Amino acid sequence: MIDRYAVVGDPIEHSLSPVMQAAAFQSAGIAAVYEAHRVGPDMLHPHLSCLRLGYHGFNVTIPHKERVLQDMDELDGVATSLGAVNTVTVREERLIGFNTDPAGFIAAVRSTGFDPAGRAALVFGAGGAARSVVSALLAVGAAVRVSSRTAGRIALLRRRLGDSVRAVGPSDLRDALATADLVVNATPLGQPPHDAQSPLPPGADLQRHALVFDLVYGRDTPLLLEARQRGCATEDGLEMLVQQGAASFQIWTGQTADTDAMRKACRRELEARRCFAS
Ligand code: NAP
Repeated sequence: MIDRYAVVGDPIEHSLSPVMQAAAFQSAGIAAVYEAHRVGPDMLHPHLSCLRLGYHGFNVTIPHKERVLQDMDELDGVATSLGAVNTVTVREERLIGFNTDPAGFIAAVRSTGFDPAGRAALVFGAGGAARSVVSALLAVGAAVRVSSRTAGRIALLRRRLGDSVRAVGPSDLRDALATADLVVNATPLGQPPHDAQSPLPPGADLQRHALVFDLVYGRDTPLLLEARQRGCATEDGLEMLVQQGAASFQIWTGQTADTDAMRKACRRELEARRCFAS
């Protein structure tokens, strides 16, 4: 009997989760398939009803992470506080929702040797990914400031995660950057069609000891290139993707995922895609 898993989103063709999770299952010797399901908002509820019957678990991605909440029979604490689910395990036809994005982000930051506890962080963006990043940073005791072009989204973020999250406006952005130990890009700037853009204002100062972390993965974004020129340590979003996937795998199987195999599978897939695109 083969265990069935999937990732549900729209669009879904770009997702690395199928190759990444296939590598984890293969390395663990578990007979499983992991599929990509493109599901629009109208079909989400009936689709989840089918997954409930025949699947062991699934991931949820854009644009459904919040919408799936209403279909969950149970939620863990992180998913409840974020109001978003990225991992579901199916037990006796009951859907139990988790969110492994914050743990994936913190594991990726720590993998660089940087300890975010008690440090000053500046996060660009106030959307779904930023929510995971900010909640993870608050949980380890970092001081978090957020810069977003839409003030209303920061207000929403603060309402959910608390007033200790400070908003940074255009006038104090340079000061905030010059004093940040950790700078995180949680906007799509740096990935197509915004691949030539950086969230850094021109000529902004960064501390040489700062870690600059871009959630965009698989490319040297303008932000990462600028940060390296200033002598900062940098990390792209691939390790976060791998670590959140490893946490999903652990929830489904109770086993530690082979992150080396997952990382290699992602890099191979990205290389193949680049090759076909050139
Ligand atoms: P989202 O919910 O749509 O939020 C995007 C945020 O970026 C919003 O604050 C948005 O501001 C801002 N933004 C969008 N376009 C912008 C622009 N042209 N200039 C300035 N700000 C802009 O998206 P998300 O799910 O948070 O994803 C954000 C990024 O993180 C994406 O690149 C995604 O691929 C990446 N990500 C990576 C991982 C990983 O594991 N590595 C996981 C999740 C997401 P407005 O509200 O003003 O539009």
